[in-house]
Amino acid sequence: MSAMPPGNPASNPFSTSPTYLMACQQLRAVARETGLDAGITERLMVPKRSQVVAVPIRMESDGRTEVFVGYRVQHSLTSGPSKGGLRYAKNVDLGEVAALAMWMSWKCGIMNLPFGGAKGGIAVDPAELTRVEKERLTRRFTEEIQNIIGPRVDVMAPDMGTDEQTMAWIYDTYSMKIGYACPEVVTGKPVELGGCVGRREATGRGVVYCITQALAELNLKPENSTAVVQGYGNVGSVTCDELAKIGTKVIAIGDRYGAIRNDRGINLAKLAEYVNKNERRTIAGFPEAESIPDAELLTTPCTVLIPAAMERVVTAENAGKIRCRVLAEGANGPTTPEADAVLANTDIYIIPDILCNAGGVTVSYFEWVQDLAQFMWDEEEVNSQLRKLMLGAFKRVRDEAKSRKISNRLAALSLGVQKVAREKTKRGLFP
Ligand code: NAD
Repeated sequence: MSAMPPGNPASNPFSTSPTYLMACQQLRAVARETGLDAGITERLMVPKRSQVVAVPIRMESDGRTEVFVGYRVQHSLTSGPSKGGLRYAKNVDLGEVAALAMWMSWKCGIMNLPFGGAKGGIAVDPAELTRVEKERLTRRFTEEIQNIIGPRVDVMAPDMGTDEQTMAWIYDTYSMKIGYACPEVVTGKPVELGGCVGRREATGRGVVYCITQALAELNLKPENSTAVVQGYGNVGSVTCDELAKIGTKVIAIGDRYGAIRNDRGINLAKLAEYVNKNERRTIAGFPEAESIPDAELLTTPCTVLIPAAMERVVTAENAGKIRCRVLAEGANGPTTPEADAVLANTDIYIIPDILCNAGGVTVSYFEWVQDLAQFMWDEEEVNSQLRKLMLGAFKRVRDEAKSRKISNRLAALSLGVQKVAREKTKRGLFP
């Protein structure tokens, strides 16, 4: 079986992306480990449906028209509607979105959610847009992909560079088009519009449930542990707050503008106040911590290292210098397969992304269910169900890893891939 994705590499539109090739490499490893049917493996390698659209908007600043490129990739429609975030980031491309969509399929598989994986993106730096421009971009993108989204087809949610407000605009644009309010077309909406209480915090909460389990297994006390977090957006900031609740000291944090460190523990309340007050909403320059070079962040000695920003940041180059006991992957795809090979020779306990950050899609599922049923749960119900599902998935992954003597990543990927593969096999190949 070749290591490459199917099709002619020159004409396979995804193959130029290292992130997509990384996702394919992982899938090949699972296929080898589990003896997956070759035909199913080939089908899982290529996303079911992809749409690339031009998104022209009039810029508020000078009235000129600027055209952005947007993507929506639905990796699998086998298990139900496809589900996945929408990312606004400068370098997003079709292959990256395809990889993220593939990972969403495995994530929904591990969590036993009735969804296939999807992802979307627009190649734009949201920090360079005004609020009006962001709204125009979001509404026009929604209009352009209207033909392939819907509550029973494909349901979007926030990801990097997008938030509850973005989802509110998508909900409104879609509803205007079909003629009635359809909150179930997106998740991660504001609570006032049918969003789920606790959705904003869900990913970070799930990350910390997993960390708590890992520390217990390693006989480490959370209150004697330290953490380093890359990313202080939705996932990173909530993870910091949840770590503080279990007594773990956050000693270093980084974002796109810089990195800070304070070995006595960063004062998170003061940091949040500082971030909310500055225009770029950055942690950089926080006066009660020293500023450190970006490259030092991930190699800062700590008990738990949490990449919660972007993919492919733990690489063959820096993996050998990482000094943590637990690597909890809040971000999607933060560790390259080459880095995995280096880490395999250390005692670092990896909580792989598709398990670690699955709290977000899990509460998105709760939101979708509530919107369809028009019956809303309270936060206690949401959090207890989230905890139950996360701990169940954590146990399944650990049991699989121990019984087959494989890494947590291979165990998680195997469970996720096999769930989708079983459904594909049972449904058969049409016609
Ligand atoms: P966000 O946009 O809210 O925050 C992203 C953070 O990363 C920001 O602090 C930003 O400054 C930082 N960042 C960007 N570029 C960086 C760089 N070069 N170096 C260091 N930091 C950088 O995004 P988010 O929703 O928190 O998502 C973060 C990651 O978590 C992504 O990989 C996303 O796919 C994943 N994820 C998010 C969710 C969710 O519910 N939002 C769920 C699962 C997984």
